[in-house]
Amino acid sequence: MEKNKQHYEHLVIGFGKGGKTLAAYLAKHGKQVALIERSEKMYGGGCINIACIPTKSFIVSAENNLPYEKAYEVKNELTSFLRKKNFDNIEELELATVITGDAAFVSPHEVSVKLHSGNEELLISADRIFINTGSEPFVPSIPGITSSKKVFTSASLMEQSVLLKKLVIIGGGFIGLESLLSGKNRIILFSNGWLRFCG
Ligand SMILES: Cc1cc2nc3c(=O)[nH]c(=O)nc-3n(C[C@H](O)[C@H](O)[C@H](O)COP(=O)(O)OP(=O)(O)OC[C@H]3O[C@@H](n4cnc5c(N)ncnc54)[C@H](O)[C@@H]3O)c2cc1C
Repeated sequence: MEKNKQHYEHLVIGFGKGGKTLAAYLAKHGKQVALIERSEKMYGGGCINIACIPTKSFIVSAENNLPYEKAYEVKNELTSFLRKKNFDNIEELELATVITGDAAFVSPHEVSVKLHSGNEELLISADRIFINTGSEPFVPSIPGITSSKKVFTSASLMEQSVLLKKLVIIGGGFIGLESLLSGKNRIILFSNGWLRFCG
């Protein structure tokens, strides 16, 4: 298949906190830049869509005794608003372009981008390419964990429209600890060579 070719001075892969800040900085300083994001649900990156902001929204709603369905609605309204604002902030810059698709390197200065809309692929070359693809939840190797419908990650948990009344949380980092704040009857399981249960 013949790929549509484009060239930019600067290419940023990933529309997270790092990527959007860098893309805006470059465009405001007279540099032509393309910002590639694989999902239209992730403009603005993890923080506003599936991490810092939605978790705090759930916690505040829980503190205000909102029913879960309402809290879910409030969370969605907030993240949609921020996602649009983040998208517009970049698109409004004359020298910046947002491209929605999955980027993969084909050579040191070229990436292939499978566009989100349709089957089209772009071949984008750039003088400088910045990788800001963030991180993804780590799923430990436990038999049955990937096929179970009862297992969530911090990301998929944000999309649960129905309240899960009890959770076992694996991992005692800041994300696991924060998940304790928005509910009751939760158990946290620290797995660091040792197992410890906290009620
Ligand atoms: C539940 C939770 C709560 C958190 N709470 C806080 C908090 O309160 N305060 C705080 O400071 N931090 C918090 N964090 C951490 C914070 O979310 C991250 O540090 C931050 O989002 C990282 O930003 P980033 O720009 O590096 O990457 P990301 O925000 O992950 O952005 C990377 C982007 O790259 C895109 N991408 C990936 N691969 C490709 C590809 N091949 N092609 C195109 N696009 C691609 C992804 O879709 C994503 O949008 C929290 C994290 C979680 C999970």
